[in-house]
Amino acid sequence: MRIVLLGAPGSGKGTQAKKLMAERNIPQISTGDMLRAAVAAGTRFGVKAKATMDAGNLVSDDIMLGIISERLAEPDAGEGFILDGFPRTQQQALDLAELLDELETPLDAVVLMDVDFDILMKRLTGRRTCSLTGKLLNVYFSTRAELDACITAGGELLQRDDDKEDVIRNRLNVYRTQTEPLVDFYRKRGLLKTVDADGSIDDVYARFTAALQ
Ligand code: AMP
Repeated sequence: MRIVLLGAPGSGKGTQAKKLMAERNIPQISTGDMLRAAVAAGTRFGVKAKATMDAGNLVSDDIMLGIISERLAEPDAGEGFILDGFPRTQQQALDLAELLDELETPLDAVVLMDVDFDILMKRLTGRRTCSLTGKLLNVYFSTRAELDACITAGGELLQRDDDKEDVIRNRLNVYRTQTEPLVDFYRKRGLLKTVDADGSIDDVYARFTAALQ
């Protein structure tokens, strides 16, 4: 199964993609995670990309095409993939279509994770990662016990550099202007499925997998 997950930052694409990956054994390909790995590795490219990412802007289409074409050529993507965070511009969508045409492996579906703006803001401004376990938490939605467990174990609740409020506003704006037009792009191609992505992780997952049938 080859699918693209579309949705604003904070719509839960990553969380849902990871669940689907675990269940169906197809890789989640998150361009955001790949870029963060390059930043953490301190490569020259990573150093350049960090400034763009910290501002909430998009890395150039050329670079993204290079990254995604290499990744899709890896053996584990042969049986399918869940693209999470790519494509994000019309040019990237066209590049992806060309790449998949060449490989003769068309997309099966594009799933839009649909969430209200207010909820997105809370999900993003509240998002934290426990420095000890890597567990994703949220100061608005996680239980007190979950948050305390990290801290009493000696961990810290870390916030991503691009989850600060002004950067979040820019990321949502970039989504609206550059990525949202892809909803129509894929609707016209008969690939779009929309999932109400408000609610618990399990409820959204149930809707997500139903949409894929
Ligand atoms: P994400 O974790 O998907 O929210 O991505 C974090 C950041 O990585 C984005 O705000 C962009 O700066 C960059 N990024 C990730 N995917 C792409 C993409 N497909 N095109 C351009 N920039 C991207």
